Amino acid sequence: MSHETARIRAEALESLLIEKGLIEAERVDDVIVRYNERVGPMNGAWVVARAWQDPDFKARLLADGTEAIKEYEFEGGEIDKLVVVENTDEQHNVVVCTLCSCYPWAVLGLPPKWYKDPAYRSRVVREPRQVLAEFGTELEEDVRVRVWDSSAEVRYLVLPQQPPEWVGLDDETMAERVTRNSMIGVERLS
Ligand code: FE
Repeated sequence: MSHETARIRAEALESLLIEKGLIEAERVDDVIVRYNERVGPMNGAWVVARAWQDPDFKARLLADGTEAIKEYEFEGGEIDKLVVVENTDEQHNVVVCTLCSCYPWAVLGLPPKWYKDPAYRSRVVREPRQVLAEFGTELEEDVRVRVWDSSAEVRYLVLPQQPPEWVGLDDETMAERVTRNSMIGVERLS
């Protein structure tokens, strides 16, 4: 289903449900506000900040993301399986959904518009370095790039590298600085 078709379908369904009295328009708006404002990328940022501070949590997060974030009870049943991939000096990870726009809502909120763009979805697979450069992320030659293709079953979160200057900051300050784009993998933190 193309994006445009999906959008029209969603709107048609929403109108029908409202017309039949099955849902109220405010209820739909609630969901949008929830993912946009309440969930947002902050959940993911907290997880990242903690992983940097707590080696045991980080190990659990990388071994089984779904299990490791359970204790947070994040809203959003959108995650069946969360896989967390760590950026290192050797490997840079970037996330896409080539088929549609699967995204880890519970940790990152609503996907940004460009994430759903067919150009991003096809190009990041073919020419990841070029696409990353367009986001301002120039990778060194010797850094391997890995592109992770999300699906309805598996969603990915990038654990960005912690800038050395951030060591020693408290979780809250760090979480505020962790950007959404760094957790999708199109950006590095500095
Ligand atoms: Fe998808």
